[in-house]
Amino acid sequence: MKNRLINIKEEALNALSSVTDEKELNDLRVKYLGKKGVITLSLKRVGSLSSEERPEFGRQVNEVKKILEEGIKAKKDELKKKASLDEKKDFFDPTLPGERPARGTLHPITQVMDEVISIFTFMGFEVAEGPEIESDYYNFEALNIPKDHPARDMQDTFYITDDIVLRTHTSPVQIRTMEKESPPVRIIAPGKVYRCDSDISHTPMFHQVEGLFVDEGVSFAHLKGILKIFVHEVFGRDTALRFRPSFFPFTEPSAEVDVQCVICKGKGCRLCSNSGWLEILGAGMVDPEVFKSVNYDSEKWTGFAFGMGIERIAMLKYGIDDIRLFFENDLRFLKQF
Ligand SMILES: [Zn+2]
Repeated sequence: MKNRLINIKEEALNALSSVTDEKELNDLRVKYLGKKGVITLSLKRVGSLSSEERPEFGRQVNEVKKILEEGIKAKKDELKKKASLDEKKDFFDPTLPGERPARGTLHPITQVMDEVISIFTFMGFEVAEGPEIESDYYNFEALNIPKDHPARDMQDTFYITDDIVLRTHTSPVQIRTMEKESPPVRIIAPGKVYRCDSDISHTPMFHQVEGLFVDEGVSFAHLKGILKIFVHEVFGRDTALRFRPSFFPFTEPSAEVDVQCVICKGKGCRLCSNSGWLEILGAGMVDPEVFKSVNYDSEKWTGFAFGMGIERIAMLKYGIDDIRLFFENDLRFLKQF
């Protein structure tokens, strides 16, 4: 009788420890302590015992009953506590502000490229594009740079085969456009170009924007006017510019264009090597030889072309002294723009 009681106690406590919700707990209570519960029935059995055994057995049953009642109460509190914690965990406050997703920004080169494009399209230029892998003909020969021309040494070319190159400038787009369209032509050609060169002011890949304007009666004065508007838009209206005579195989006459130093405003500083001027682009009147290769009548049509490096413009605009920073993709650098 006594052993049976101990078994019941252990079985009940075991069951209690694995209870996980209130329904299970209630079932357990009914099973052991209910009107027809195991322990209640044990108590009723007291009557069948001898009068010597009765008090001791009764005491033991009551003790087990008490232990179980206390266990159930403790379990109930535990379940209640857990339920309130779960409630807190799942609580959703729809009035809290949302988490803002991190927003990317445009690369500084893209920003400057977009700005340059918008200035020229505003003046009526259309955007033209061409392949980055280019034939020797479009990259050099049609631009008045034959195979033995010393000007080829001015550009450190990546050759893929003897006749295929990575374009060294966006000028081939001029030829491709003029082959397709008859004048007047007014285009800008933005894009990536490649040269075998790498240091503080050169990267093997960089961006150029090239412009071409062909019409009747186009003169150097038009070129100067257009570039003046461009420089004023990018660097401010008080920025002076000057033209220096230069040489390019595809323009004649040719000029290099300087802007007044953006740092010292012409007084002389480290950036401009104390000259007060910074070179920003090359330009000139289209060489009649170039018109010949696209069958334009150079007696009737004249035109100008100009080309600039976007990295160079961006460096001057933002005061950056190492071109390689643009391509290291360090977010601490890129986030400043
Ligand atoms: Zn300066």
